[in-house]
Amino acid sequence: MRLPRIGGATDVAVDLGTANTVVFRRGEGIVLFEPSVVAIDERSREVLAVGNEARRMLGRTPATITASRPLRHGVIADFETTEQMLRHFIRRVSGRGAEMIVCVPSALTPVERSAVVEAALAAGARNAHLIEEALAAAIGAGLPVGEAVGSMVVDVGGGTTELAVTALGDIVVSGSLQVGGYDFDEAIVRWLQRERLQVGQDQAEELKIELGSAIDDPDDLATVEVAGRDALSGMLRRATVDAGQVRAALAGPLRQIVEAVRDVLERTPAELSSDIATRGMTLVGGGTLLRGFDELLRRETGLPVSRDSDPLTTVARGAGAALAEIDTLRARERSRKRQKRRR
Ligand code: ADP
Ligand code: MG
Repeated sequence: MRLPRIGGATDVAVDLGTANTVVFRRGEGIVLFEPSVVAIDERSREVLAVGNEARRMLGRTPATITASRPLRHGVIADFETTEQMLRHFIRRVSGRGAEMIVCVPSALTPVERSAVVEAALAAGARNAHLIEEALAAAIGAGLPVGEAVGSMVVDVGGGTTELAVTALGDIVVSGSLQVGGYDFDEAIVRWLQRERLQVGQDQAEELKIELGSAIDDPDDLATVEVAGRDALSGMLRRATVDAGQVRAALAGPLRQIVEAVRDVLERTPAELSSDIATRGMTLVGGGTLLRGFDELLRRETGLPVSRDSDPLTTVARGAGAALAEIDTLRARERSRKRQKRRR
């Protein structure tokens, strides 16, 4: 019997991240990588720009234009805007009518899950399937997800950290915390505020990328000049920020991530933890690009730690690979139904 084909070349996988939206199209690879930002005219409620263009507007807009990130901590905080953003991105990759798979954090409630499906359908998808982000991450990182062996992934995004131990095609133990790269930025803002220097979130992100490190290095004497504001007088003030200050600011949120990793390891069944002891964990997500992040986890857990070669697109690539599985799953379902009918 010939199985009906679903989708074909129009199949797309969407990683709707707090920081970035990444779209993978079957047969082509990554076709879109843009910040999850939308610029809206408050008076007409019209979407003015999405993605890169909207990001350039963030913080530089007149009062009547708001540029917002519609996802918070991996969850849709603003449904209407998320849907418009998705619709815009999907139109751009001409994915209307596509069979779509969307990555979601494992901690989403059923209501939040259906919100994602609805947003995808409203944006023009013919069908929308969900895949747990951590599972997509493990597939994208090339871990032997389908085998009877334990694999561990740690995905640090903008607003969340997703952790999972996988085996036999599924997530066996998972963890999720609302701490990610933005919390690193915020910690830097707060730290400098205590030293009477006000900087914006974007400046803090730049400081993190240029000076930040997850581990102490007393020899690192790098500094960066920033133009901020005096927290007391409100006057513009130039200041020099050094690597030690940034590192001190990052210690808090990093500690939370280390604790979450430990917690997942503790909850992992013995047979799987012995796999992980030898095979280690794999890091994905932009947050793990922080200098020394892998070394920190190595020191704190004593396990081997490696990072995927392109950690910003791992999840989208993994979900893309899972698209092919949908065909298989459907075929299996159909043959099961046929067998039932015969009986
Ligand atoms: P999400 O999945 O939530 O969209 P991403 O995986 O795209 O998030 O990662 C975005 C985060 O990665 C941001 O907080 C960003 O500041 C951070 N990031 C990107 N590059 C680096 C870098 N070189 N060093 C430290 N952090 C980085
Ligand atoms: Mg992500």
